[in-house]
Amino acid sequence: VPYDIQDEISALYKSIPEIANHFLILDKIGEGAFSSVYQARLKHYPEVTEMFALKHILPTTHPARIENELRCLLKLGGQDNVMGVKLCLRNRDNVVIVMDYFAHERFQDILNLMSVNEARDYMKNLLVALKRIHQHKVIHRDVKPSNFLYNRNKKQYALVDFGLASGHFLIDREGEKQKTSTPVSASNARVPLSPSKANITQTVKISPPVNKFHESTPLPRPIKKQSSFCVPASSSAGFLEKSGLCNCLGKPKICSLCIARKNQMAPRAGTAGFRAPEVLLKSPEQDTAVDIWAAGTTFLSILSARYPFFRAQDDTNHLAQIISVLGSAACVEAAKTFGKVLTLSENLPPLDLRTTCLKLRSSQMSTRLGSSSFSPAVQHPDDLVHSWSNVPPEAFDLLARMLDPNPCTRITAEEALRHPFFTECGA
Ligand code: ADP
Ligand code: MG
Repeated sequence: VPYDIQDEISALYKSIPEIANHFLILDKIGEGAFSSVYQARLKHYPEVTEMFALKHILPTTHPARIENELRCLLKLGGQDNVMGVKLCLRNRDNVVIVMDYFAHERFQDILNLMSVNEARDYMKNLLVALKRIHQHKVIHRDVKPSNFLYNRNKKQYALVDFGLASGHFLIDREGEKQKTSTPVSASNARVPLSPSKANITQTVKISPPVNKFHESTPLPRPIKKQSSFCVPASSSAGFLEKSGLCNCLGKPKICSLCIARKNQMAPRAGTAGFRAPEVLLKSPEQDTAVDIWAAGTTFLSILSARYPFFRAQDDTNHLAQIISVLGSAACVEAAKTFGKVLTLSENLPPLDLRTTCLKLRSSQMSTRLGSSSFSPAVQHPDDLVHSWSNVPPEAFDLLARMLDPNPCTRITAEEALRHPFFTECGA
């Protein structure tokens, strides 16, 4: 263990002496914005070979966030591919969550090695975990490969990291139980999202027109210009009729009437590249469908062997990348359903998901297969390549259903598990 990590471990022993009493920390296994995760074993029971994962939450983390993470692990964890909790230790402002250690691969290391059958198992197990938490009306809000641990040999899976979760049995930052059906994120999510005012119309300029992929990056679609327009009124039905009230609708300016409006608040917790259109467009009403979108983005990564698929510098850029995949019309229509007018600089047709994914994947596999970087653990690259030349069409149908830009019609975890990709395309 390197010296700096050794120092961190010593500091952790000091900040929570009970950790030092019971555990021997072996190594650091993860670090995120809000925590460091260590691998440990029991100090006084050398015969116990089981390992533990110790998640040390940074002392600056809001207590509501910590409480919510624990509530989720306690209430939902330990079954259906959701990580459970063994113990929680606290000393003053330091909190450590003790979980079973779950040996896992890094997604980017195995992406190229996944066969279609493996992709199916992976997605099925992710959906099993999402079905479990969504049944309890919990939104994870940070679904992505690094929060869905996968042990390839054992074919085991675990959804982790409920630091951003929201749901009715969780609390918001003011310490209030979340009462409304509109979820309030426990994180730092309730921030004004734009210097401009409520009900923003997002104008996304996409140029040049794009129908081709660059070889190495998934979607290099530069946005030349971005500006916000303001439209009045809030309900999805009827805001156009009220447009007479203000004089900036559709214009690249914000009128004084609109400046006087309240800032619109909407949760935007999550990771760049995994946010759903309704999150990017600041819809205040978000539900479990945001997790399905993130899982769909993960599926897109697997099918195209590109990770991350969306490399988003900001929300507008990410939205433009989504639009260039799904097409303008579907996105404009979807935005309408949650009360947003999306003005685009040009009309783009949807890409054919199958063609796009398989083209990307085959270029990726042909550059990696046979090269020295290719893992020797894979004995049958021919089988692997073969599996990707015979992907059942159901896979892309499911992908399209998960990446439905309209959260109301997007497939749910429960429905997805009954999709023919799982029920009729068995291994
Ligand atoms: P953060 O909120 O900092 O992202 P996570 O809960 O996602 O914290 O944990 C960070 C990383 O630590 C994970 O991506 C994973 O690699 C590792 N990790 C988390 N929990 C476990 C566990 N129970 N077993 C093994 N590794 C884990
Ligand atoms: Mg994480």
